[in-house]
Amino acid sequence: MIIDAGHGGKDPGTSGAYTKEKDVVLRVALKLGNYVKEYLPDVKVIYTRSKDNSVTLKGRQKIANENEGDVFISIHANALPKDVSAKRKNAIYGTETYVMGAQNTGRNLEVAKRENSVILLEEDYQKEYDFDPTSSESSILFSLTQSAFQDKSILLATNIQDQFEKRAGRRSLGVKQSSLYVLWSTAMPSVLVEIGYLTNPKEEKELNDTSIQSNIASGIFRAFRDYKNEVEY
Ligand SMILES: [Zn+2]
Repeated sequence: MIIDAGHGGKDPGTSGAYTKEKDVVLRVALKLGNYVKEYLPDVKVIYTRSKDNSVTLKGRQKIANENEGDVFISIHANALPKDVSAKRKNAIYGTETYVMGAQNTGRNLEVAKRENSVILLEEDYQKEYDFDPTSSESSILFSLTQSAFQDKSILLATNIQDQFEKRAGRRSLGVKQSSLYVLWSTAMPSVLVEIGYLTNPKEEKELNDTSIQSNIASGIFRAFRDYKNEVEY
């Protein structure tokens, strides 16, 4: 199992009033890994990062594919654009889980642009990556690699959102599809979990609460355990 804490190092990801995405997602990722190691000792846990360091999106894929992961779980936190009103920031909160898809509209496009834009921090990104992460038109195509795993990715994503809603006390905004580079060429079922909105003051506070971080991590853990049972039998 590949656990991918989003961003890190020179890339802070998005931010709330006082929280950086890279910090909160790392805490949840490490808690998830600990649950898996404790309760599913047969499952090998590989982190793309386990501290505050930079890893490129290609580097994350490479770690996932070289370790022949059976599942890739990328953990991120969400945000509304900076110019959105306080009223809207108070209104929008909750979790969502993405699988790779070709549709990119509305908020899905915003999320794709934001999560893909880390590429711009890399030197020579135009040479390394065959698309412009800031353009909606050049959204990466839905690869054959990921489409082969689509059913399993959707199953895992659905389990995660069910767990969040029914057991972890998180609001679910559902399973969504978007062209996210980090999901693009992993050769395994892959999901990207947005654990909540750092731009929502209440949710920002909750995401800093260690017991809520544990609830989120255990929700993803149980979703993975259920998924494993479902696909193996
Ligand atoms: Zn992110």
